[in-house]
Amino acid sequence: MTAHAPVPAEGCGPSVQRQRGQHAVFCGLTGIIWMHRKIQDAFFLVVGSRTCAHLIQSAAGVMIFAEPRFATAIIEERDLAGLADAHDEIDRVVDQLLSRRPDIKLLFLVGSCPSEVIKLDLGRAAQRLDRLHGGACRVLSYSGSGIETTFTQGEDAALAAMVPGLPRANGEAPSLLVVGALADVVEDQFRRLFSEMGIGEVAFFPPRRSTAMPAIGPGTRILLAQPFLAETARLLEGRGATRLAAPFPLGAEGTAAWLAAAARAFGVAQSRFDATIAAPRERAIRAIARYAPQLAGKSIFFFPDSQLEAPLARFLANEAGMRLTEVGMPYLHRQHLAQDLALMPPDALVTEGADVDQQIDRCRAMKPDLVVCGLGLANPLEAEGFTTKWSIELVFTPIQGFEQAGDLAELFARPFNRKARIASLTGSKAEAAPCS
Ligand code: SF4
Repeated sequence: MTAHAPVPAEGCGPSVQRQRGQHAVFCGLTGIIWMHRKIQDAFFLVVGSRTCAHLIQSAAGVMIFAEPRFATAIIEERDLAGLADAHDEIDRVVDQLLSRRPDIKLLFLVGSCPSEVIKLDLGRAAQRLDRLHGGACRVLSYSGSGIETTFTQGEDAALAAMVPGLPRANGEAPSLLVVGALADVVEDQFRRLFSEMGIGEVAFFPPRRSTAMPAIGPGTRILLAQPFLAETARLLEGRGATRLAAPFPLGAEGTAAWLAAAARAFGVAQSRFDATIAAPRERAIRAIARYAPQLAGKSIFFFPDSQLEAPLARFLANEAGMRLTEVGMPYLHRQHLAQDLALMPPDALVTEGADVDQQIDRCRAMKPDLVVCGLGLANPLEAEGFTTKWSIELVFTPIQGFEQAGDLAELFARPFNRKARIASLTGSKAEAAPCS
């Protein structure tokens, strides 16, 4: 065993208050926006309503120059007698799509929340279509319904749907599996660092191509790259894999501790680990420090939205000097987030679940300098004079790892800069902040 960075004890950190009530978040279909970019031979066929089609097209944009890799099969209002027709319609659409697009190797039927879609058994439809097309294209299904907790669960559901089909690893030789969609540039950086440490057997899930699925077995050690993958991790553990406890790789502190968890599991010598991370860690610390004048001492309030709130709050408090007021999370996985919570200031108010009206009241009373929230809340809060940051941006932007730590800090400095620019244009009084 080597020392590396100490693992914070589970159960330390702030206490968590639970709340129940209305929440205001996007649905799981949103995950298609980053998932279709990640798995380059996959296609996401939403089975939904016109609302679903509008959401996915306006959020993901229309692909003009490339063949699209997502679409919506619109199921109109119909009674139970019409369900057989709906299945025929799905079969017809899939046949048409796959005969025109032989490049698609993995097709997801994505369920949604309109009642006419809920009545359909998409799991069975996927099995049937997989039998028909399985040689050329795997067909899986998952739900992106807005009835689930939050929008990042779309990724969890998509990855979970792939787990049963992952190949079985031969033997018990140790291998590392990084779980959670990461930008390719971030994946490449991590791969280099693991290689410099001497950890050779490394795979990423989801893979860039569906034909390169990682093998799973008792030797697999999983390192979660995203904090919203409860079901995927549970299924991988069910296949014999072991999860490595670590904070999430945000900021210099989080990335060092995340890499250290892998180094410990693979018996990397402390000196080799230190030599591998020394320069990039230093670069990360310097990059974050550039934004300290804008962020240090400022208070921040998180509405529950992306499930990234705990590691973000830990990063902003410990590395950027921000003051946490409330850290709201739609759902808190006690084991997966234990290390991030243990590293957070113990006096932070951490809430799980949502009661959006009460949270708005608390936010107004606390008057934070910055509010992180979903798009639906951002505009009304801006109109009240709050400075806001859209939480969804933090899922779309590469923020993990040492080289992205400065960009992560900059994302939180940007709203202050924007406010200062508007103030200088309109002549109104606002706190001046240097532009990045
Ligand atoms: S799945 Fe539900 S919440 Fe999402 S766009 Fe469709 S109707 Fe709206």
